[in-house]
This record gives sequence, structure tokens and C-alpha cells, in this order.
Amino acid sequence: MKCSYCVTYNHKSKSKFVSGCESLRLDNVRSHEISDDHKISHTSFLNANKAPCDQPIIKAVINMEKRDLDIMAKLFTTAFYIGKHEKPYTDFIKLNELQNKNYSDNISKHYNSDKQARNFIKYIAQPYMEKQQ
Ligand SMILES: [Zn+2]
Repeated sequence: MKCSYCVTYNHKSKSKFVSGCESLRLDNVRSHEISDDHKISHTSFLNANKAPCDQPIIKAVINMEKRDLDIMAKLFTTAFYIGKHEKPYTDFIKLNELQNKNYSDNISKHYNSDKQARNFIKYIAQPYMEKQQ
């Protein structure tokens, strides 16, 4: 008798349940089930068979994307404010710095420029411009 978890996920184990156990005694099976080797194999099986979105690295990426999307939404909102109130694009930088200080948003310097403000406003205005044509 072999343990399929240990054979697949812990084949280097010296357990009798990897090489093949001759005994069919219930005590042997139970002691194998609570052994550290088997627990490691079972955990490996569970990790390998998780849905992709439940795996820690995917969760980290999803969370990172949510944080980045959240920051992008704030940048668009700030740009919308600049455009709607006809403020100079350079105010975009000051407002983002204020946002960083108030909310620890860590808005990238890459996006914090008057040129980026113009780009954000261009994208906000694009659907309205297309309607007018
Ligand atoms: Zn096992």
C-alpha cells in the first residue's frame, strides 16, 4: 500500500508509505496520517490544487493591481478637478503631493507632472470629444 500524496509530493521521504507498506494494519495508516512527512505532502497537494485566484502570489498581484487602480482613480479624479475648474496643470503636482501626505498614497513621480495632468484630462475628455464629432 502506498500513500498517493506522499508518492507525488514527498517522494524522497523514507516512509514505508512511499516505497510500499506491506502491513494493512489500521494503526500504521493512522500513524502515517499524523506524521510530519504526510502533513507536508498533504499541504503540498492542497496548495497545488488551489484555484489560481486563491494562491498567495496571485492574491498579491490582485491586491497590487487594486492598489494601483485605486491610485489611478485618484489621479483621474484630481485631473478632472483641474480640468473642470480650469486650474493650471501645475496644480496637479501640488494636489498629488497633498494627497500623498494626507493618505500616504505614494503616487509615483512618473505620474505626478503637468504633462501627465494633460494626458489624464485628454483621456477624460476623449468620450465627450467623440460625441461632438
Ligand atoms: Zn502520506
